[in-house]
Amino acid sequence: MVLSRHIHLAKGDITEQDTDVVVNAANSSLLGGGGVDGAIHRKGGPQILAECRSLRASKYGRGLPTGQAVATTAGRLPAKWVVHTVGPVWSDQEDRSELLADCHRNSLEVAVSLGAKTVAFPAISTGIFRWPLKSAADIALRTVLATDAPGIEAVRFVLFDEAAFAAFNDVLTTLRSE
Ligand code: ADP
Repeated sequence: MVLSRHIHLAKGDITEQDTDVVVNAANSSLLGGGGVDGAIHRKGGPQILAECRSLRASKYGRGLPTGQAVATTAGRLPAKWVVHTVGPVWSDQEDRSELLADCHRNSLEVAVSLGAKTVAFPAISTGIFRWPLKSAADIALRTVLATDAPGIEAVRFVLFDEAAFAAFNDVLTTLRSE
C-alpha cells in the first residue's frame, strides 16, 4: 500500500526528476509524440527510442494497449528507467476511468518488478488526451493510494502548470482528511 505521506506533489518537468522511475504518458505506437512523450524522447536521447522500437518488434507490433505499462532504460535522463503507459483519451460518452486507474496500477507494478524505490508520474491523459484535471487527479491519487507496491518508498506527481498542481493538491488534501 502506498501511504498518503509517501505521495508528494511537485510543480515542474518530469524529464528533470531523479526518481528511479519516471512514467511516460506515451502513445500506443511507442514511437514518441507530443507533450510528456516528446519531452522524454528529446531529452532522453535515442537509446529510449531504440528500446521502444525493439519492444514493438518483439511484443507490441499492434501498439501498447491503453492502460498497460512497459519499461525501458532512461537514456540521458537522470532517472534509471522510463515506464511507458498509454492513457485513455477522455470521452464524455463512455466511462474510461478504469483504464486510467490501470495506467497507475500497472506502472507501479512494473516499477516494483524493477526494484525501484521512487516513482514520478505526470498527470496522465490530461494534455492531448483532454481528461479533466480534477477527475484525473482523483483517479490517479486514489489508485496509487490503494495499490500494493512493495518497496516503493515515494511517489511524486510532477505537475507541469499551476492548474494541474492546484487540482492534485485539492484532491490530495481532501483524501488526507477523509
Ligand atoms: P496525454 O496524451 O496522456 O494527455 P500529455 O503529455 O499531452 O499526455 O499531457 C499530460 C500532462 O503532462 C498534461 O497535464 C501536460 O500539461 C503535462 N506535461 C507536458 N509536458 C510535461 C513535462 N515535460 N513534464 C511534466 N508534465 C508535462
